[in-house]
Amino acid sequence: MSLDHNASLRDADPAVARLIDQELRRQQHGLELIASENFASRAVIDAMGTPLTNKYAEGYPGRRYYGGCEVVDRIEQLAIDRLKQLFGADHANVQPHSGAQANFAAFMALIKPGETLMGMSLPHGGHLSHGAAVNHSGQVWHAVHYGVDPATGRIDYDLVREQARRDRPRLIIAGGSAYARIIDFAAFRSIADEVGAFFLVDMAHFAGLVAGGLYPSPVPHAQVVTSTTHKTLRGPRAGLILSNAEHAKAIDKSVFPGAQGGPLQHVIAAKAVAFGEALTPDFRAYARQVVDNAKTLADALVERGFAIVSGGTDTHLMLVDLRPKGLTGKEAEKTLDQAGITVNKNTIPDDPQSPFVTSGIRLGTPALTTRGMGTAEMVRIAELIDRALTHRDEATLARVRTDVETLTSAFPLYAPPRAAGRVRRSA
Ligand SMILES: *Cc1c(COP(=O)(O)O)cnc(C)c1O
Repeated sequence: MSLDHNASLRDADPAVARLIDQELRRQQHGLELIASENFASRAVIDAMGTPLTNKYAEGYPGRRYYGGCEVVDRIEQLAIDRLKQLFGADHANVQPHSGAQANFAAFMALIKPGETLMGMSLPHGGHLSHGAAVNHSGQVWHAVHYGVDPATGRIDYDLVREQARRDRPRLIIAGGSAYARIIDFAAFRSIADEVGAFFLVDMAHFAGLVAGGLYPSPVPHAQVVTSTTHKTLRGPRAGLILSNAEHAKAIDKSVFPGAQGGPLQHVIAAKAVAFGEALTPDFRAYARQVVDNAKTLADALVERGFAIVSGGTDTHLMLVDLRPKGLTGKEAEKTLDQAGITVNKNTIPDDPQSPFVTSGIRLGTPALTTRGMGTAEMVRIAELIDRALTHRDEATLARVRTDVETLTSAFPLYAPPRAAGRVRRSA
């Protein structure tokens, strides 16, 4: 089975078409628990595969360096308007090609190379682009990091304040890739104000939950908010930046011509579609189900003797500490992969193992919830994960693989339009 618009590709380049079909089948038949992944709608995917990719449009709507931009101007403006409406922001830039590029452009707009930024440390759940040593952000700026309290798995705001007083950052960043709890944006802003720093929130992971009203909005608290569009927000693979009116000009200049050349208008069209979807009541219901599913999955795993960092989750993701099970993250990722369950190994706070091995796995529910799975399926999935990780022999993994197949067939993904319509109505 494949997306029907692949027909022309199959004639022109069967090698690439076959590989795309293979990847589609992998997505259809596996249990996708990677917390940063989702399944964009057919409409979002259709918008990306269009002749908009042919158009150069350096600049912004109404202020381009190329002719022939009448149509793409309207598309980009639509994306901007919908995005501003979705998050109640003064200003929106929809051109960043990715989350990391959005961050780079936003940081450059706010602080000078060599100044100090302060973000959550990568091994405690932060993101590479928040000043990790191997990332350019850790080389261009002087980066310092806060972590979580190892006892609670949560951010200790008093410790963050003490550290900010000591290190005097010019920019404080909140948000990460493996933090399962609600962040206190007001506390961060008060710390930033006290030390004279800008406050930026990177909501890459939880943007869809903010859009759906399930997570507090960072927009009233931060001067600048960055995000990806492909995680809980369920759009195309890309980034975005929101800001208050004061920083609007600096942000736009920093994205183009500062950090990027021509915008990807086909992807911007897909963002417009995704923002339109996120404005609907259906999306609010989706976001609620994502969080209900994550809480149910975390509880069911705890009942089976797994430890969850911070004891649970407020969001779409959880960090499983595998030490009580005597397993590393690397072993668990590989074992689950053999059973058709896709997860990623992840460091836990103060992990004794290296980042290539780790003591944890990160699980998230955005993708499976998009397929229509609910809390009953989450309880079943906890059982499948437990069975695979407890026995780990080939016969068990093969049996779990069969059970995964049964489960995924009941929730078709990118099925032919008529079947998809039927499933949605009855779900
Ligand atoms: C995923 C993520 C990013 C990076 O997004 P890319 O599109 O992969 O560059 C940035 N920040 C956070 C917090 C993320 O989780």
